[in-house]
Amino acid sequence: MTSLVVPENEPMRLGLMGGTFDPIHVGHIACAQAACEACGIDEVLFIPASVPNFKRGRRLAPAETRLAWCEASLREHAHFHACDIEIKRDGITYTVDTLRQLRALYASDVELCFILGADSAASLPRWYASEELAELATFVAVSRPGQALDEEVRSSLEAAGFRVEYAEGLMVDVSSSDIRGRIASGESIEGLVPEAIRLQVESEPAYCGVKEAGVEDAVCPEMNARGGVADDALSDAFFEARKAELVGRVTEKRFNHVMGVVDAAQRLAEIYDVDVRTARLAALLHDWDKGYDDEGIWKRGIDLGLDKTLDPWVFSNMPQVLHAHTAAVALEQEFPQIPREVIQAIDRHTVGDENMTPLEMVLYCADAIEDGRRFGTIDELRAAVGQVSLDELFFRVYEFWTLNLLSRRHQVHPATIKVWNTLIARRGSKKGRE
Ligand code: ATP
Ligand code: MG
Repeated sequence: MTSLVVPENEPMRLGLMGGTFDPIHVGHIACAQAACEACGIDEVLFIPASVPNFKRGRRLAPAETRLAWCEASLREHAHFHACDIEIKRDGITYTVDTLRQLRALYASDVELCFILGADSAASLPRWYASEELAELATFVAVSRPGQALDEEVRSSLEAAGFRVEYAEGLMVDVSSSDIRGRIASGESIEGLVPEAIRLQVESEPAYCGVKEAGVEDAVCPEMNARGGVADDALSDAFFEARKAELVGRVTEKRFNHVMGVVDAAQRLAEIYDVDVRTARLAALLHDWDKGYDDEGIWKRGIDLGLDKTLDPWVFSNMPQVLHAHTAAVALEQEFPQIPREVIQAIDRHTVGDENMTPLEMVLYCADAIEDGRRFGTIDELRAAVGQVSLDELFFRVYEFWTLNLLSRRHQVHPATIKVWNTLIARRGSKKGRE
């Protein structure tokens, strides 16, 4: 049970600091202190986000560890407390769920004040269920080095219905990514994290392989689940931030597959004259939800309302295709800056469609023939790249996959038959006869 901080008699302003805390550092504590001083906040809960259900890649410390570091670091601050409410919850941790849960736990005269750095504050209107979010709490935006809140952001937050207060923090130029990077390259982190946890943090296995995996070069201003900092979804910054986030969402094997698809999609895009940045983004995000098991993906599908929009038979019987649809819906909600064509390509990457766009065909083919895949006659498909038209390549890949499913006696999606018939009709009307 989550332990509560209970006000004795006065109504209270309860501060909430959400984050990955991977690891917690002196900037987080300074941020909370600034909010308390500027806005009369009495107590603060530090709430590490979980990265649930997903088999996490190596570079995120386990949720329990991140929580334990918060506990140890906050012991000397009487009014700061580590809170396990998110890591105990199953499923993806949306702030709105946490606020709802806390709202129900606390009396109505306790005001919830969500504290966040200016970088995160700017993206608030893009967070999941932002309208409800705006109703549930007051938001306290604390300036961060290089991240003051400009007038434009302030007015966009107000226009979106957020009650926002501002605090000038004692600027502490540190971030968790910076700390992880230093550990990976053997630099000191003294003074950057509370001394009580420094040795543990330095020896955290999740941080030591950052260099080898190539994620360290990521321009990664936001690793947490809600950080859509880059407005331009086709930018390198957006790509790298999502890539770093993906590490925590899928297994290492899946991550490697995705990076293979990114390479293949870029190659195909160049050959077939599709925008390369758009193709690489669709490839990077296509398996965004592949870390869920069947139970998890059903639950996520229901949370996102897909049980009402998808074919009910497919929803109940084909959990293996749901990840494409949940990813499309969830990504569109969380990152409205992602172009619609990318969302649709993700949505169609498992079953395809009768009218695939060039981008969609590139993703579909890249997913099948990336270098990590080894089976059947896949080399013949690889050899056809650049030799045949994109339509023809897609047809061959679709045929290969469909035959493969049938020969392994898997269920096929009802739409597969439709797509197949359309493709055949287009190729010269064989109409079921040779
Ligand atoms: P990462 O580099 O992994 O994104 P981070 O240092 O930004 O880590 P988070 O866990 O993402 O830490 O951040 C939790 C919250 O703390 C966010 O609202 C963030 O804006 C805020 N925050 C983090 N570092 C600072 C800092 N140095 N000054 C003020 N606020 C900060
Ligand atoms: Mg961050």
